[in-house]
Amino acid sequence: MEAKKIPEYFGTMVFNDKVMKERLPKEAYDAVRQAIDKGTQLPLSYAKIVASVMKDWAIEKGATHFTHWFQPMTGITAEKHDSFIEPFGDGEVIMKFSEKSLVKGESDASSFPSGGLRATFEARGYTAWDPTSYAFVKDGSLYIPTAFCAYSGEALDKKTPLLRSMEAFNKQALRILRLFGNTAAKKVTPTVGAEQEYFLIDKSVYEKRMDLVHCGRTLFGARPSKGQELEDHYYGAIKSRISAYMKELDEELWKLGVYAKTKHNEVAPSQHELAPVFTSTNTASDHNQLTMQLMKSVANRHGLVCLLHEKPFASVSGSGKHNNWSISTDTGENLLDPGATPNENAQFLLFLVAVIKAVDEYQDLLRISVASAGNDHRLGATEAPPAIISIYLGEELDGVLRAIEKDETYVGKEKTELKIGVSVLPTIPKDSTDRNRTSPFAFTGNKFEFRMVGSSTNIACPNFIINTIVAEELSQFADRLEKAEDFNLELHELIKETIKNHNRILFSGNNYSKEWEKEAKRRGLLNLKSTVDALVRYTDEKNVKLFEKHRVLSGSEIRSRMEILLENYSNIVHIETLTAVDMARKEITPSIVKYQTFLLNEYKLKKECGLPCSLEEKLIKNLAELSEKFAEILDKTIKDEKAYDSSWNNLKKAKYAKNTLLKDLGELRKYADEMELLTGKEFISIPTYEDILYSVKY
Ligand code: ADP
Ligand code: MG
Repeated sequence: MEAKKIPEYFGTMVFNDKVMKERLPKEAYDAVRQAIDKGTQLPLSYAKIVASVMKDWAIEKGATHFTHWFQPMTGITAEKHDSFIEPFGDGEVIMKFSEKSLVKGESDASSFPSGGLRATFEARGYTAWDPTSYAFVKDGSLYIPTAFCAYSGEALDKKTPLLRSMEAFNKQALRILRLFGNTAAKKVTPTVGAEQEYFLIDKSVYEKRMDLVHCGRTLFGARPSKGQELEDHYYGAIKSRISAYMKELDEELWKLGVYAKTKHNEVAPSQHELAPVFTSTNTASDHNQLTMQLMKSVANRHGLVCLLHEKPFASVSGSGKHNNWSISTDTGENLLDPGATPNENAQFLLFLVAVIKAVDEYQDLLRISVASAGNDHRLGATEAPPAIISIYLGEELDGVLRAIEKDETYVGKEKTELKIGVSVLPTIPKDSTDRNRTSPFAFTGNKFEFRMVGSSTNIACPNFIINTIVAEELSQFADRLEKAEDFNLELHELIKETIKNHNRILFSGNNYSKEWEKEAKRRGLLNLKSTVDALVRYTDEKNVKLFEKHRVLSGSEIRSRMEILLENYSNIVHIETLTAVDMARKEITPSIVKYQTFLLNEYKLKKECGLPCSLEEKLIKNLAELSEKFAEILDKTIKDEKAYDSSWNNLKKAKYAKNTLLKDLGELRKYADEMELLTGKEFISIPTYEDILYSVKY
């Protein structure tokens, strides 16, 4: 693809605003625009026109089918393809796509997780068109982004709460803007740019690893002799195979209108990153799903496999997804950008402290938003923030807030004095705000970077939660300020008070250190180490109240989500246990036994010849002791797995998975890995870390 052609083919497979403007009659176009901008229902008469135009366009792009594309609670997207054909006359067909097929799809929801929301006799669910995320053509099908609900209207997916949270956010943010005299903005949208980390390995090694195939991560594997110690992979020169892959991936994404922007090597060997230009949280979330899918399918075409698990390999860095979150108005303003006038700065500070208060009051929800079996292996390891949430603001802004809190005059580096609503904030240099890479929630100049998100997480979750908790604080602020007699005075008080009440969440030090864990405990911050500890708090009264108030989730929807996530957690750990047992029996045991037999024969031969044989003797003894332990733990694991009862309730299963099965897995691995380090290479039947992490050689 020629570089100069990129603007021409960017978004060519997307039924976007430009296409709609060109092809739809003006009235229909205006109606769609209104549905997108104001969230109004598109009248069926217009939907009919849109469907017909969309179908013709899709057929030109090679589509024979259409599918409603949705995001059930399984964590991956779902699609069911119907062709456009409709019988006509005698044995002929026409291509048809009705307004009903565009707007609403019936779906058998019985095989998707509902967490008890849907009684078995109500197996039907439906999908509803989301016009705010553009339809597109991929692999010969027209994809229509949709929300997925039970027949009762309750959400069964990840998109619905995100859309609802954006609406709630818009409403509350507009109230604040009006208080500052802004009447021009009609819409406020939370925005996101999600930096996606991933591993690429050669398909041949992948296929030989049962654990990678079934679980997406290795359950065994001793450290390679070279890991990431030399720090020579991060931003290193990109190998030609990887570069060809990245090029094709970019092109595929661009055609689908995804703003793929940055690509580079990451810290671990075989690890890479792709970052897009930010967009609205809804589009960004759909685009991130597409990106993850294309990462996998393009890899396949290059003889590679893309691993999106949070921790595919022990002892090297795992993968995350930095969630850069900010707030845009339709008039082009970033509300988290410190402004140039006193009024803008006061407004900036208000939004800033709203985020601070939200993060402090809903630490549990933020932790829940990134909770998964995979991410538990990453959080708190030395490559990712711990399970403790805190905010890093940067030196300058920290200074500003401390001064406000103490009613002192802030004198910054530029010797500017600061008083809210009166003076101008010192310019906050962008680079000085991002020095702390260990912070889970860092202010980076004009956005917050939430760094706890796992690489495979659907970003709809963290974002619907961030949108909702910040909307709640804005609504409290608006309630108070709308009643104020002296706006500036009340504003000053409010900001000051908020800083005072929530400064415990601010932390500038090293989040990876042991001291921080202690200090955080002293401050009363939560440290929810595992998914199970976090999830049980989902239904706490304050959380249910929050989601119900902003109509983002009902009490029963939250309970269902908690059930689904708990069950998902225990299912994953259970599958890992079964896989580990199989590997221990079928791969590890045979290779250990073979090597030990070999050593014993050598030893006997040498002994017979009267030769010294302490090397063999030591090894034999060592391996014999380790394999005894290994056998013991394998027996225990098998017994514990048998005791796992799938008819237990989800919490019991999840607790058992965490407290018993995961511990067994860890122990089993410990001895297997120790033995691996002592075993001759030719006796090991599966690819080692060395083989996998350096499988792409040129
Ligand atoms: P860095 O690489 O230092 O983390 P960048 O400025 O390159 O920072 O941004 C990283 C990510 O943040 C990109 O995906 C980018 O699009 C996103 N981003 C930048 N500005 C915003 C914003 N206003 N809202 C949301 N995301 C943003
Ligand atoms: Mg970043």
